[in-house]
Amino acid sequence: MSQYDVAIIGGGAAGLSAALVLSRARRKIVVIDAGHPRNASAAHMHGYLSRDGLPPGELLRYGRDEVRHYGGEILDGTVTDLASDGRGGFEAGLADGRRISARRLLVTTGLRDDLPDLPGLRERWARDVLHCPYCHGHEVRDRRLGVIGGTAGSAGYAQIVRQWTHDLIYFTAPDTLTAVERSELAARGIGIVEGGIDRLVIDDDQLRGVQLHDGCVVPRDALFVPPRFVPNNRLLTGLGCGVDAAGWATTDATGRTSVAGVWAAGNVIDPRAQVITAAGAGSAAAIALNADLVDEDVRVAVRLHQP
Ligand SMILES: Cc1cc2nc3c(=O)[nH]c(=O)nc-3n(C[C@H](O)[C@H](O)[C@H](O)COP(=O)(O)OP(=O)(O)OC[C@H]3O[C@@H](n4cnc5c(N)ncnc54)[C@H](O)[C@@H]3O)c2cc1C
Repeated sequence: MSQYDVAIIGGGAAGLSAALVLSRARRKIVVIDAGHPRNASAAHMHGYLSRDGLPPGELLRYGRDEVRHYGGEILDGTVTDLASDGRGGFEAGLADGRRISARRLLVTTGLRDDLPDLPGLRERWARDVLHCPYCHGHEVRDRRLGVIGGTAGSAGYAQIVRQWTHDLIYFTAPDTLTAVERSELAARGIGIVEGGIDRLVIDDDQLRGVQLHDGCVVPRDALFVPPRFVPNNRLLTGLGCGVDAAGWATTDATGRTSVAGVWAAGNVIDPRAQVITAAGAGSAAAIALNADLVDEDVRVAVRLHQP
């Protein structure tokens, strides 16, 4: 079993960015990646300085090449369990039976987008059903847009989407809006459609509209849907890492969890992280991890140096 300085679980923007910093710091690292980054279904990635519009998979291909260039190892596989080795380090078990031993762990396993259960919606995800106006709003600017509302905060989300179009409709079940939300939506010209949604109308591989229970179809070119974000943090909670009231693992500003030697970065701890911020968080965690390893290296060196 190979002994690494750091095992990084998850090879998206956060994990690969950390791997680049650590391998350049001459640490022996491994990235284990299951190969399902969150934005895989999007054709283009936006908002990443100098790489705006790049297909998301290409960023990761460049990242993998850069990490390997500095000696970092990348394994395709799924980590199924993490455990302390009882000597201050950790062991990771992979689904195919491989085991990895490392002095420190960085978990960057991302999150899952839970979408409303509406016929046609999942199939159009990342095409004309979108969630992040900063990622895709510019591409559908001035089109006929809709927001599937009804969840907490979704009227405020519609106000943000309004930044990209004058023709916006907020769909919600009857009696879900407060008087203030209703007047704020009306004040900015956002149409309100109150009624149950039957399905999305798709024709010729394009969204055409939203069909309501009464059969009426409201024409729309694209829809914004606020998903429920679910962190892929089973490995962290299995190690005993502390979580907040909503079940998200808590860390300090560098990504250090409540369990000594275990860090986390990116969407697994922060639903708001974009690709560039996930990469930044991975980099910050890597620098803190290296400092923690250096502290241990100093302690060991001093002990061995005693006459
Ligand atoms: C449709 C869509 C479009 C988006 N477009 C944009 C955009 O244009 N611009 C932007 O900035 N952001 C965009 N985002 C957000 C972006 O996807 C995230 O910010 C980014 O993916 C977060 O990076 P991450 O490294 O934290 O997680 P991820 O990129 O999700 O990477 C996590 C990795 O961990 C792996 N993994 C999970 N569990 C395990 C395990 N047990 N063992 C091994 N590996 C594991 C996964 O397979 C995955 O490869 C979009 C999101 C979606 C859903």
